[in-house]
Amino acid sequence: MRLTVLGAGPAYTDRAGATGACYLVSEGATHLLLDLGQGSFTRVFPHVAPTDLAAVVVSHLHPDHFIDLVAMRHYLRYEFDPPRRVRVLGPGALADRLDALHAEPGFTAEALDLERLGEAVSLGEAVRRIGALSLEARLVAHTDESYGIRVAVDDGPGLVYSGDCGRADDLAPLVRPGDTLLAEVSFGAGPVPPDVLHLDGPAVGRLAASTDAGRVLLTHLLGGHDPSATIASVRALFDGPVEMVWPGSRIEL
Ligand SMILES: [Zn+2]
Ligand SMILES: [Zn+2]
Repeated sequence: MRLTVLGAGPAYTDRAGATGACYLVSEGATHLLLDLGQGSFTRVFPHVAPTDLAAVVVSHLHPDHFIDLVAMRHYLRYEFDPPRRVRVLGPGALADRLDALHAEPGFTAEALDLERLGEAVSLGEAVRRIGALSLEARLVAHTDESYGIRVAVDDGPGLVYSGDCGRADDLAPLVRPGDTLLAEVSFGAGPVPPDVLHLDGPAVGRLAASTDAGRVLLTHLLGGHDPSATIASVRALFDGPVEMVWPGSRIEL
């Protein structure tokens, strides 16, 4: 399984080229995107034709995680005759949110096959198959319907993506020993301001240590926070490898 970082967020930044969250996970001919934030759609093309994506999985409905679905919808709708379709899993309100941007009911459904990610959780079907990959999601504290997501190949080590998350413990049930944790670290070395639902380095370090994660990849760093100090704040609590990932990072898992 390979992770290619196409966009590493966050919602806004003065860092050149820092487009919205978008992580390509590939195993053989199966490719899926975790999130598709602002500016990241064009970054998919060098790696995989968007029509060859097995799915796009959206963690939550903040624009830095899903807004380029508009560009993808237009591409599928107008670049091909007949239009092509891609499977999208995410929060239940995703179609209404995209439709509302154009005040056009049915806008989304013309090219995207939407499934609510949460249904698997509420039905107790924790794991879904997407081609060669298995997918598991758990609700986390952030918006009304935000998910942490685990992707794996069979029983092999997985990739656990935090999405945006205000309580690291919500991710713990997803993490198996040896997994790679791809965690948002919005507030760098910390602390996270009161009542803000994001993570900082110490929260990620504690989570990685308590769950026996194999490795930590940090992302979604807000401007004004120093990457090196952020990495150090995780290493203070977790013995394994820790690095910050950026657009262009490629990691074999
Ligand atoms: Zn975000
Ligand atoms: Zn968010």
